[in-house]
Amino acid sequence: MTEVVVLGAGYAGLRAIRELHGMPNVHLTLINRDPYHYEATALHTVAIGTNEPDHITFDIKQALPEDVTFTVATVTKIDVEAKTITLADQSQPLTYDYLITALGFESEDFGIKGADEYALPLENVKTAEAIRRHLEDRLAGYQETQDENDLHIIVCGAGFTSVELLGELVHRIPSLIEEYHLPAELIQITCLEAAPKVLPMFDQKLVDYAVQYLADHGAVIHTSTPIDEVTPTGVKSGDTTFNANTIIWTTGVRGSHVIADSGFQQKRNRVAVDPTLTLKDHPEVFIIGDVSAVPDPASGRFYPTTGQISIAQATHVAKNLRAQLDGNAMTPFTYKSLGTVCSLGPSVGIAELGDRGSMKLRGRKVSLLKKMVNDRTIMEESGVGNMLRHLS
Ligand SMILES: Cc1cc2nc3c(=O)[nH]c(=O)nc-3n(C[C@H](O)[C@H](O)[C@H](O)COP(=O)(O)OP(=O)(O)OC[C@H]3O[C@@H](n4cnc5c(N)ncnc54)[C@H](O)[C@@H]3O)c2cc1C
Repeated sequence: MTEVVVLGAGYAGLRAIRELHGMPNVHLTLINRDPYHYEATALHTVAIGTNEPDHITFDIKQALPEDVTFTVATVTKIDVEAKTITLADQSQPLTYDYLITALGFESEDFGIKGADEYALPLENVKTAEAIRRHLEDRLAGYQETQDENDLHIIVCGAGFTSVELLGELVHRIPSLIEEYHLPAELIQITCLEAAPKVLPMFDQKLVDYAVQYLADHGAVIHTSTPIDEVTPTGVKSGDTTFNANTIIWTTGVRGSHVIADSGFQQKRNRVAVDPTLTLKDHPEVFIIGDVSAVPDPASGRFYPTTGQISIAQATHVAKNLRAQLDGNAMTPFTYKSLGTVCSLGPSVGIAELGDRGSMKLRGRKVSLLKKMVNDRTIMEESGVGNMLRHLS
């Protein structure tokens, strides 16, 4: 039997299992920190409380075919020379013939003073729930504290995740004002961005629409405002201090720290892999999703790290692993984007679709599109067990 081990049950890991299941003489093992999969693309909705964790998670064991070994454990180290994986709290390392590393992303704080201590990162379901608790506790506590800082919220960063989170926030704030009897005129939502532009991947007209929509609903975005320090009560940028008791950190992501801990050559915990998605000199080690940096032959740059691309990489890895087992040559990964959709709360959004983003959309129809894409992913991944049982 050939032992194939998949690390991480995010978009990339689950898709890899789905694509590889059913291969003759191959045994699959999946390792994940939690017993559940979560829709990372919807974490911001749980953080703001417009969605519940149950709606973005599902039980992995139930979704997997019985002949896939699933272990709930935390990976601490990968040794590609010894072909072993070290798991926390387990004395015996796990061995493999082929390895697919798909350990995903962590919040990036860029070493900014106080960020780790005082800002709330958005990384997984637990941190999303922590943001919601903190936000609601501060707002609810205002009646007692009369501290206006309890009514101020700062979102750090104005990339894709920040803007989606701001959209949910401005949507939920009116109901929180009502629920906690808050003075609406004292609520402040501030977004701080170091770069001169918000959402650099989008056309300027769509960006303007998004910024105006957020401004109309009470969120002020400050661009060219690099964060120097985070304190328990605010954020410092140059000579200016922005005061708030809720500071949400969505400035960007890096790959899992296990990558650096394992001694891989990496940048921000991402390994620059060969075009076949394998580690240099180790064709038996595939690295995909947010822990990888994959060259785009068309532009010469690395592809962005997204859920869409992670899934496409997993499908490609299955082809290349099969090619190796059959004694055939592996092929390089290429990807054509289906487009980008950014929601501004549950009912509005902006999108660039089609060839090179030629179709530009904004407004209510876009949120429906986003919901359809997300629902389709959940359905596909959670239905993986049934689908595979049916096929085999
Ligand atoms: C709010 C938000 C919105 C987004 N929206 C979009 C979007 O609209 N479209 C899009 O394409 N992308 C979007 N993204 C990006 C997308 O979510 C990521 O690119 C994608 O999740 C990466 O998939 P992955 O499988 O590599 O990793 P993840 O989805 O991060 O999965 C990694 C898995 O590994 C597990 N794991 C991590 N460390 C360990 C360990 N040490 N041991 C064991 N298990 C471990 C985790 O628990 C998780 O299950 C969004 C991201 C965020 C945060």
